[in-house]
Amino acid sequence: MSLESLIIKHAKYADLKSNLKRKIGVELSNHKYSEAFEEVFIGKDELSNEDIIYGTCGNHAYEAVKILNRDNDGGYGYDEVLNMYGCEYCIKARKLKIEMGFVGTKLGQIRGAITRVGRKLNNSA
Ligand SMILES: [Zn+2]
Repeated sequence: MSLESLIIKHAKYADLKSNLKRKIGVELSNHKYSEAFEEVFIGKDELSNEDIIYGTCGNHAYEAVKILNRDNDGGYGYDEVLNMYGCEYCIKARKLKIEMGFVGTKLGQIRGAITRVGRKLNNSA
């Protein structure tokens, strides 16, 4: 792949990443405490009022997984619990974060390829 096409791809994925980051911020800013979590947290002291005020469903899901896997046979996954109890905005944000992870990996690969081209150029200089 030519250096030019690598640079073009890099710009494309970098823009994609910042766009996803912005969208995640918008979704998370809409978060509302999801009462569905009460099913898990009721009678437990894992979640303080401060957590409820400042945490997102992502934080609550993390705590909920711990409780569910302690009190039941286990095997609950983070995404499963978030999808069961989280608000629609946090669920959307999570999907975008996963997408951003893939874009980040792709960016890393492109940077690696650019670095390899740079080394070749240095060695032939
Ligand atoms: Zn939420």
